[in-house]
Amino acid sequence: MSKISNNLHSCIDAIPVGVKLVAVSKFHPIESILEAYNEGQRIFGESRANELISKAKILPKDIQWHFIGHLQTNKVRSILPYTTLIHSVDSERLITLIDQEAKRIDQITNILLQVHVAQEDTKYGFLPDELTTLARSGTLENKKNIRICGIMGMATNTDDQERIKSDFIAIKETFDQVKTLLVKNTDFCILSMGMSDDYPLAIKHGSNMVRIGSSIFGNREY
Ligand SMILES: *Cc1c(COP(=O)(O)O)cnc(C)c1O
Repeated sequence: MSKISNNLHSCIDAIPVGVKLVAVSKFHPIESILEAYNEGQRIFGESRANELISKAKILPKDIQWHFIGHLQTNKVRSILPYTTLIHSVDSERLITLIDQEAKRIDQITNILLQVHVAQEDTKYGFLPDELTTLARSGTLENKKNIRICGIMGMATNTDDQERIKSDFIAIKETFDQVKTLLVKNTDFCILSMGMSDDYPLAIKHGSNMVRIGSSIFGNREY
């Protein structure tokens, strides 16, 4: 078995039933994706619009592409036909735009709302309070061409396990609060949190979707 196949199976073995694995293939070549595909992996994550589109055009059509990076408004139109889930919806403007563009192509687009709890200025996302306010406002219910499937969050990029743990707890709390507020939305059930270095802890704190890149494909060459 190849390195990638081995890594993939180690991850699958480490993830409990009920937790979905997004294999984050950003910056990795088509051949690497195909290796994972041939082992049965179907969900792949990309963080750049152009890269996602060019890979999706070449690779098998039954791959489900998840967009996980910061989405620029001018890329929304081009990625919608190729994505099954956008994890990184981080502004009201983006919500409105995705809804409009999805309507234009007669599609309902699955999205996650990105919450920001990490101790860094560089990470995108709504603050927990902003998300609960948004959920209370009723505006989400009026967007007929988006399906709000849950929340995505990232812990602070640190070795401090206590900090990572408290970030995951805060993300899960936000998920629970928003879920209660969107009580009529039965699609709201995905909690996307956990990456190569922290996914076991994320799962322990309620994650049901992990985004794993380097533990499967190796280090990225930027
Ligand atoms: C790159 C990336 C990942 C995967 O990170 P690894 O540490 O390689 O597992 C997960 N989530 C997001 C949002 C990313 O940008």
